Amino acid sequence: METCAERLVVEDGVVAGAELRLADGARMRARAGSTLIATGGFQGDPELRTAHVHPRAGDMQLRSNSSSRGGGYRLATQVGAATGHDDAGFYGHLIPSGVSFADPADFVDLSLYYSEHALLLNVLNDRFVDETLGDHLTAMALLEQPESRGLLIADARGFRDWVVGSYVEGAVAVDKFALAGKRGGRVGLAEDLEELAYLPEEWGYRGEAVRDAVKLFNEDAAAGLEPVPGRQLDRLPLDEPPYYVIETVPAITFPFHGVRIDDRARVLRGDGEPLHGLLAAGSDTGGLWHRAYAGGIASALVFGLTAADTATATTTATTTPTAARTRASRATD
Ligand SMILES: Cc1cc2nc3c(=O)[nH]c(=O)nc-3n(C[C@H](O)[C@H](O)[C@H](O)COP(=O)(O)OP(=O)(O)OC[C@H]3O[C@@H](n4cnc5c(N)ncnc54)[C@H](O)[C@@H]3O)c2cc1C
Repeated sequence: METCAERLVVEDGVVAGAELRLADGARMRARAGSTLIATGGFQGDPELRTAHVHPRAGDMQLRSNSSSRGGGYRLATQVGAATGHDDAGFYGHLIPSGVSFADPADFVDLSLYYSEHALLLNVLNDRFVDETLGDHLTAMALLEQPESRGLLIADARGFRDWVVGSYVEGAVAVDKFALAGKRGGRVGLAEDLEELAYLPEEWGYRGEAVRDAVKLFNEDAAAGLEPVPGRQLDRLPLDEPPYYVIETVPAITFPFHGVRIDDRARVLRGDGEPLHGLLAAGSDTGGLWHRAYAGGIASALVFGLTAADTATATTTATTTPTAARTRASRATD
């Protein structure tokens, strides 16, 4: 970034622009009736993630741009902006453990969306979440499990229909299992259920307990019993060998903790009143998503346009009296 906004200018409780540092080191003050915070969140800052997402969130891999490092969040909170809840969660997906993202194409190619049709066991060899509700929700739940890692197990049906089958209609399917193996991830193929007992010891799971957990799930599913935890959507047993095993960890796209706004995209103060002159949109906002998610583009688009409406409405409302005052003062000169 060539020009950096160092701090917001506040006059009589109203944000009136920002102090900028230019590429050559020179500083200037930009005056504005409305200032928009839209720097895309703080996922690129491990310290903010640790403070406001989860104590282990700083260690997560980033499946997003690294330039969103909380610049807007800091500017806004320095002048008293209210923020969302620390337990709001984050948008992200499961990825193979031990694989570094080398290219933005990895963000999608290595996201294990198919977890909704697989079983996820933690390091204690237990299921702990309804995997079928959404890979992004499962990623949040895994962060909170011991060591924030787990084993994702799919059978041949899951692999055929949801890994090498196209997950979203029209999208090119990527064999994530093969790719994760090629990139050094922990992957294993068990020819049948019994072979699940022979997981590499150094992975730190008890193979027999893993095998028994899958067996128990299958028995419950075949008998029409509700497994624990329950599964609202795909309730079929994983009874078609071979079994595809990947060790997985959560990766973050952006946090849900951000700057609070109202329905006119005005940043709020701690007392719930607008911090006049300051607007925010997109992934810098907080309080919109809480352990749920319906699209980051939506909050960027909706509140970006709303902020433009608010800014132009403010301009119209403030220029008219100023122009009237100017005219009035000239008339009395
Ligand atoms: C792989 C991937 C897939 C996704 N898929 C979907 C999807 O299918 N549907 C969906 O709705 N959403 C999706 N998203 C999320 C969506 O793309 C984002 O939530 C959305 O783009 C955020 O918009 P924004 O304007 O808040 O931030 P951005 O679009 O990230 O823009 C913020 C900009 O601010 C710049 N910036 C950062 N700090 C500063 C600073 N201090 N000063 C000046 N500029 C700064 C950044 O460089 C960036 O250019 C996906 C994201 C990723 C990474």
